Amino acid sequence: MSEVQSFIPIAKPWMGEPEAEAAKRAIMSGWVTQGPEVAAFEQEFAAYVGANHACAVSNCTTALHLALLAVGVQPGDEVITVSHSYIATANSIRYCGATPVFVDIEPQTYNINPMLIEDVISDRLQRGIADRTRAILIVHQIGMPCDLKAILDIAHRYDLPVIEDAACAIGSEILWDGQWEKIGKPHGDIACFSFHPRKVITTGDGGMLTTNNPEWDKQFRLWRQHGMSIPDTVRHGAKQVIFESYPMLGYNYRMTDIQAAVGREQLKRLPEILERRRYLAEQYQEKLADIPGLKLPTQPNWAKSNWQSFCVRLTEKYDQVKVMQEMLDAGISTRRGIMCAHRESAYQSQPWSCGVEPRACECEVGKCDRLWESEQAQDHTVLLPLFHQMTQQEQDYVVKVLKMACQV
Ligand SMILES: *Cc1c(COP(=O)(O)O)cnc(C)c1O
Repeated sequence: MSEVQSFIPIAKPWMGEPEAEAAKRAIMSGWVTQGPEVAAFEQEFAAYVGANHACAVSNCTTALHLALLAVGVQPGDEVITVSHSYIATANSIRYCGATPVFVDIEPQTYNINPMLIEDVISDRLQRGIADRTRAILIVHQIGMPCDLKAILDIAHRYDLPVIEDAACAIGSEILWDGQWEKIGKPHGDIACFSFHPRKVITTGDGGMLTTNNPEWDKQFRLWRQHGMSIPDTVRHGAKQVIFESYPMLGYNYRMTDIQAAVGREQLKRLPEILERRRYLAEQYQEKLADIPGLKLPTQPNWAKSNWQSFCVRLTEKYDQVKVMQEMLDAGISTRRGIMCAHRESAYQSQPWSCGVEPRACECEVGKCDRLWESEQAQDHTVLLPLFHQMTQQEQDYVVKVLKMACQV
């Protein structure tokens, strides 16, 4: 390895003394789960994104599960979504006993193609099975906002709820009636966030649901705590003996106060993190512009990404694995583009649909004609290192090595 001595990771959480102190505060308080830190984190998060309600849970996958349950997804239903996402998106649909209906992405933004949503709905209407379609689960992939206006327009026409998988999209913004608004301010019905270390802020693990619907928010709070009718805080503070009841099947999807205390500190850092990530993304755009055949990310003029990942597309003349290996040999960690759930063994013998049916599926396993753009994106894109603490020197080194790897 040359100028840069240490290994450059793909991502690195930005945490320090304030987070350690916050965790200590929660531990020393003697109240370590579902207490005041969780309540405060929820309030601060709701205020940040501009939602009426925010409910903290154990991670984004459990958030997605509860969101789907809240809008009424049941066994036998269909949920329209993308295959081109982290597998948790599709898995959450299966947790409800429902079938994911995968539609393809737009090659420029790697996000769901709204026109294909409409195709699926029309197909089900024609075949008289439209009542099976219960919801649309969209993903703001690697922090780039989806075309929410177009999607909601279709959803409203067919009276379908929209859930936003905003796992990677905290701090991302969308232009709405002339105003920049945070993803998570409810335009869709429910948005779900992740605080896994690979995301923009972290609590170790953690998730959040935002909505403007008070009934759903109430429901989330019951479900995350075994369906228990009285929260711990209420029972603890009660002057009279009260007994809880369990009127429904619930789960243990709780966030701890230790995590929430850390999350509150991370939220304070978020504006600075976003500024830095946007600066680094701009630098990549400038410095990589002259590599022939390398396609840089596209940001629609109505979207501001948080650049959770910086994704470059290699044209046919480059070999994805070779480029990644050369970078790894030079001490730079990269990742291949986002996965496709339909290509995984976990989906091979399971029911999923690639959109319009009936069809005789003649595709090879792992190759679906209707999900061509999704597969292309997985096979020809590379995610580059991008994290708050990344120095200019480190970024210049990544640029230099990528240029060398792209010399054919
Ligand atoms: C990370 C991620 C998830 C899962 O989040 P967890 O908090 O790890 O459960 C879901 N969807 C997308 C798009 C993700 O990137």
